[in-house]
Amino acid sequence: MSRRAKIVCTLGPATTSQEQITALISAGMDIARLNMSHGNHGDHLVRYNHVRAGSDATGRGVGVLADLQGPKIRLGEFPGGPVRLAAGDEFVITTEDIPGDAREASTTYEGLADDVRVGNRILIDDGNVQLDVTGVSGSRVYLRVVVGGKISDHKGINLPGINVSAPALPEKDEHDLRWALATGVDMVAMSFVRTPDDAQLARKIMQDMGRPGVPLIAKIEKPEAVRFLPDIVDAFDGIMVARGDLGVELPLEQVPAVQAQAIKLARERARPVIVATQMLESMINSPRPTRAEVSDVAGAVTQGADAVMLSAESSVGAYPIETVATMSRIVAAAEESSLLSEHHLTRRPTTTGGAIARATVEVGAIVGAKALVAFTLSGETARRLARYRSPIPLLAFTTDPATRSQLALTWGVETFIVPEVQHTDDMVHEVDAALIRMNRCAIGDKIVIVAGSPPGSPGKTNALRVHRIGDAINLPYP
Ligand code: PGA
Ligand code: MN
Repeated sequence: MSRRAKIVCTLGPATTSQEQITALISAGMDIARLNMSHGNHGDHLVRYNHVRAGSDATGRGVGVLADLQGPKIRLGEFPGGPVRLAAGDEFVITTEDIPGDAREASTTYEGLADDVRVGNRILIDDGNVQLDVTGVSGSRVYLRVVVGGKISDHKGINLPGINVSAPALPEKDEHDLRWALATGVDMVAMSFVRTPDDAQLARKIMQDMGRPGVPLIAKIEKPEAVRFLPDIVDAFDGIMVARGDLGVELPLEQVPAVQAQAIKLARERARPVIVATQMLESMINSPRPTRAEVSDVAGAVTQGADAVMLSAESSVGAYPIETVATMSRIVAAAEESSLLSEHHLTRRPTTTGGAIARATVEVGAIVGAKALVAFTLSGETARRLARYRSPIPLLAFTTDPATRSQLALTWGVETFIVPEVQHTDDMVHEVDAALIRMNRCAIGDKIVIVAGSPPGSPGKTNALRVHRIGDAINLPYP
């Protein structure tokens, strides 16, 4: 594999057919993102099934991520079509269910009038339209347009700096989450996470649905999340730097620093981190990206992101397959130069498993290992190895197909399904035979194997073994 960082593709109307989704996989999609903010469960199910079929057909373990809408505040509908607001106009947003026009519109968020004060700023459509609150009366919020523009059905509203009282897991999210878990998705993302405790709301439902171990990703797009970042990284299984809303909720110029800090924190804690939004935005309409976009993707990879993400580019764009192929080439080229300089982590491991992972990477480099091999049930050993971003190939062997799909998000990991074994020696046999069969190693090559003993006990990583390919012949095997 020449590319190590992974690619997340949002699926949508432009990528619904089996043919399109299989082409996305062949072009480099590692994770398919179902964006629950758009479309209905029927649409998502069609795409889900096509990802599974395409994944089987190509032999790639593509993972599926369900991204919950979160407490996103939206405008209601404008039956007469989009309207244009001009600077200086008066406007009203109300929680009453009224048809929108150039003077007033409804919102889906019932708490709006309670949360805002005179002088607050309200942003519509990713900040393109800006209004100031001039008065509040009952359910009506009176506004003056500061920056004008077009508004239309269901456009998003952001309230930067305002403590929004909307629940962290609204009813729609709970409904979507239950659907996603029942359907079989591999991981779930929560939007507009504000505190580490938000994780519990989703985990309770996972428990209830009999799928307690599904990885939960926190989307970092609120100032509160930035403030509690280390605790959020600890409380969740991964994070997404959701630069779209983040750049509206925070001053734009602060986004790059948050991205750098988020990548560092997540890597230290061996949690996957996705950099998202507008990465190749111009390719929504153009077959070639801007040079600035190319640099942005390369920069995220050089900083050490596990994955880079496409949103509108792959869901509604005119060139979804070309965009993934382009992204894959940018990532590979960035890695070719950046892998030469090692990504040092200053934080020392605090667990036995972490210590062994760090030693494995060092031993691998010293003995010239052809691969670092993790025998892993939960995937945790592979994630701990991956955080060092070693240039040596990282191969995970697992008995659990769900672990394989989850590891599709983790930097540099290739995962293989193997039968269950009883003893460490049996495991070495399996790895030895598989690497020769797959032409990944030749007799005499060295590999470093990390495992727990006995095999199959999660969280019990305690062994590091330097193995010479071919030597397993001399090991006892039933
Ligand atoms: P969204 O999240 O696409 O669900 O809004 C990503 C972002 O805000 O950047
Ligand atoms: Mn968002």
